[in-house]
Amino acid sequence: MKNYEVVVIGGGLAGLTAAIHLGMTKKKVLVIEKNNYPSHKVCGEYVSVEVLPYLNKLGIELSDAAEIKKLQLSTVAGRLLSAELPLGGIGISRYALDFRFYNRAIQAGVEFIFDTVTEIAFSDNCFKINTQLGRQVSSPIAIGAFGKRSSLDKLLKRPHFDRPAPWLGVKTHIRFNKHPVNTVGVHAFRGGYGGVSKTESGIVNFCYLAHYNEFKKFGNIDDFNSEVVCENPFLSELLTKGEPLFSKPLSIAQISFENKKAVEHHILMCGDAAGLIHPLCGNGMAMAIHSGKIAATLICRYLEEPSFSRANLEKEYRIAWKSQFSGRLWWGRKLQSLLLNPSLSNSLFHLFSSSRRLTTSVIRKTHGKTLEAL
Ligand SMILES: Cc1cc2nc3c(=O)[nH]c(=O)nc-3n(C[C@H](O)[C@H](O)[C@H](O)COP(=O)(O)OP(=O)(O)OC[C@H]3O[C@@H](n4cnc5c(N)ncnc54)[C@H](O)[C@@H]3O)c2cc1C
Repeated sequence: MKNYEVVVIGGGLAGLTAAIHLGMTKKKVLVIEKNNYPSHKVCGEYVSVEVLPYLNKLGIELSDAAEIKKLQLSTVAGRLLSAELPLGGIGISRYALDFRFYNRAIQAGVEFIFDTVTEIAFSDNCFKINTQLGRQVSSPIAIGAFGKRSSLDKLLKRPHFDRPAPWLGVKTHIRFNKHPVNTVGVHAFRGGYGGVSKTESGIVNFCYLAHYNEFKKFGNIDDFNSEVVCENPFLSELLTKGEPLFSKPLSIAQISFENKKAVEHHILMCGDAAGLIHPLCGNGMAMAIHSGKIAATLICRYLEEPSFSRANLEKEYRIAWKSQFSGRLWWGRKLQSLLLNPSLSNSLFHLFSSSRRLTTSVIRKTHGKTLEAL
C-alpha cells in the first residue's frame, strides 16, 4: 500500500488548492478524483476577486478571464437594480479553471489517481482509503473535498445526507452578444434564479438554481425554461435570442444548503463538503479556495511542528472555518429567501434602489477580505 503525507479526496477547486499549496511546500500529496479533466461543471463561473492574489502566488494563470465589476439584479417581473460590485470578480469557465489548477498541481509534484473513493477508515493515527478499482493508499491526513453531495457523505453517515435536498442546478453556455459589458446578471424566476456572465472566451455562461417543487410541475428543462424561466424578460431574451452551445444543458439534482461539520471522522472537510453557500452570493468557489488554503496551512504546521497535535489541527481548522464562513452562509440564506419571496423581493428592491451604501454593505457581508499570499 502506497503511503502519502496527505490524501485529498476530490479534485475540485477546494481539493486542488490544498494539493497545490502542500505540493509547493514539498509535501507528498495524492489527489483522488473520480472524473477526468477538463470537463464542464454546473456553476455560475463567477469568481470573486478576493482570492486572486493567493491564486497568483499559487501560479494559476487568469489574465484571459472576463472582468466583472457590475451587478444587475432583476425580479421575476423584470424590475431591475444595477450596482457596482464592491469587490468585483472574474468570469472563467470551470472547464478551463479546474484544468489549470490540475496542471499546476502536477507541476507542483502532486500525484493523481482517477478513481472513486469508496471507503475511508481511520485507526492508529492513519487513514486507509480504498477506491472502486481496488487501489488502497494510506496517509496520516485526509482532506474531504468531495463537493456538495457524494456517496461518501452516506458512507460517513453525515446527517445532512438524509435531509431534504430540494434544489436543482442547470447550466449551459450561450453565444449572446447583447450581454452588458463587465456585468454579472442575477435574474429571479418563480422558484429560482439564474446567473449570467461572460467567460474567458466571450461566451455567456447561464446557470440557474430551481426549487424542485416548481420544476416537478414540468419535469423537463425545455418546458421549465419556456414556461417559468422565460417569465423574466431578461432571461427570455437570453434564451430566445442567444445560441446555445451545449447539445443539452448540464444539470445536477439534490442540492442542499444544510449545515455540515468542518471536521468529521478526523477528516478536514473543504469547500462544499464543509458547507455550500447560496450561489446568489457568487462566493462558493472563493470559499472553496480559501478553505483549501486554511487546511493546507494548518496541515503544514501539523507535519512540521511536533507540538502541534492532531487535536490542535482539528480544533484550529474548526475555529478558522467558522470565523471565515459561518456569517457568509447565514447572509446567503437570508438573501436567497428574500429574493425568492415575491412580495419581500419587491420591498427589498425598493430598499436597495434607494441606498447604494446598503447594497454594497449587504454584498460585502457575503464575501471575505482579500486572501493574502502563501
Ligand atoms: C447552480 C450553482 C451555481 C453556482 N455558481 C457559482 C458562482 O457563480 N460562483 C461561485 O463562486 N460559486 C458558485 N457555485 C458554487 C461552486 O460551484 C462551489 O462552491 C465550488 O465548486 C466548490 O468546489 P469544491 O471543490 O468544494 O467542489 P467540486 O468542485 O464539486 O469538486 C468536488 C470533486 O469531488 C469529486 N468527488 C466526489 N466524490 C468523490 C469520490 N467518492 N471519489 C473521488 N472523487 C470524488 C467530484 O468529482 C468533484 O470533482 C455555484 C453552485 C451551484 C450549485
